[in-house]
Parts: sequence; structure tokens; C-alpha cells
Amino acid sequence: MRLRNVTGSREAIAESEYVIHNPQEHRGSWHEIFGNENPIRIEIGMGKGRFIMDLARSNPDMNYIGIEKFSSVLIRGVQKQEADPLPNLYFIRMDAEEITSVFGTGEVDRIYLNFSDPWPKDRHAKRRLPSREFLRRYGEILIADGVVEFKTDNRDLFQFALEELEPAGWKIVQMTRDLHHDAQMMQGNVMTEYEERFSSKGNPIYKYIITR
Ligand code: SAM
Repeated sequence: MRLRNVTGSREAIAESEYVIHNPQEHRGSWHEIFGNENPIRIEIGMGKGRFIMDLARSNPDMNYIGIEKFSSVLIRGVQKQEADPLPNLYFIRMDAEEITSVFGTGEVDRIYLNFSDPWPKDRHAKRRLPSREFLRRYGEILIADGVVEFKTDNRDLFQFALEELEPAGWKIVQMTRDLHHDAQMMQGNVMTEYEERFSSKGNPIYKYIITR
């Protein structure tokens, strides 16, 4: 994602009641934030938040947390949430490398990765969100039969993600190399900003759903 510095975004995020500011303090007690026992689903690298906000709006009986590394991107989601708040949605500004210090064992029901940065250089493979290093972290925070859902238009990243599964001890539940022409996997599909951009150019969208 091309980043433009958005003046005042850090300050606005610091003041927002919809951003959890010391997320480590809530490890093991996220249900208290929402005031209910509904399952918690997270999107890592939520960008401007269209996907997770649409999910939260259509599924009021689920709780959602959007995670984004950069204030200048997260601010767009925060502004939308301030204007028309969804009670089942919060945001965290953090690098997902720290995810296990924020969520306890089995605290998360599902993880979404959408159009994750490809980090094309081999020496940066560990930074890719579907890498085995991240899968190990996801395994710690997910419930026993929890799933990771990953969508991308990047063929090389998808191939890499598939090759990481066996060494990491994960298996495919469902997979497609052309989501928008796969009637079964398209059911209930919620578009992301990047998905709209790339699918409108005719790029195929790859998707897997995996479990341990
Ligand atoms: N998911 C959105 C979509 O599909 O429209 C945005 C995709 S954008 C290419 C990837 C986003 O992931 C960027 O906003 C980036 O800052 C964020 N990101 C990448 N690595 C991250 C990490 N380690 N922790 C948190 N966010 C991350």
C-alpha cells in the first residue's frame, strides 16, 4: 500500500475510543471490551477497513477487531467508525508480529488476511503474513478448530502460502485460484478495497481457508 502521511492521524487515533490503546493489557479478557461472550474475529492488515466494517455490520452477533500497522491508513477506518459506530468493532494499531502478546490461547475464533503485502525478497519471507512464522502465532491464539482465511491477487505469494502449510502443520479446508468464478466460495464473499481494485482489472483472486 502506498503510504501518504495523513497529518494528525496519530493524534486522532490516540484519542479515539474505538482504538484499543494498550492491547496487551486485555490479553485473556477481550470479551470484557465487548461486554458479551460472542466469538472474536480479527483481520490483520485491515487497511482502510472496508472489509471488517462490512462484516461487523452484517454480523452483529460476532465481535471484530481490525489490526493495522500504520496510523495513516487506520485513520480512515477510525473516521468511518466515529461517524457511524458499530458496537461490535474495535481497532488496534500494531505490528502483527506481536499478536501473541495481545491475544491469549484460543481467544480468537477466526483470522482474516486480505491482500497481504508480498515482501518479494527471500530474506523478508518471515514478514509475509501467511508465512510459517506467522502461522505458528495464529495457532497459539486461535480456538482448536479455528480457521485462517486468506485472499490475494498475488500468485507468487499464494504459492508461497500453500508451500508453508505442511511444514507449519496446517491443512486446507477450501481453496480456489479464481474466487470470483467459484460459485461455492463466492457465497457470502465480502469485498475488500484491494479486491475491488484488482478484480475489476480482471486479475484472478486466490483464496484459501485453512485449519490445523
Ligand atoms: N486488507 C486491505 C484490503 O484488502 O484492501 C488492505 C491491503 S494492503 C495491501 C495491506 C495492509 O496490511 C497495509 O495497510 C499494511 O500496512 C498492513 N500490514 C502489513 N503488514 C502488517 C503487519 N505486520 N501488521 C499489521 N498490519 C500490516
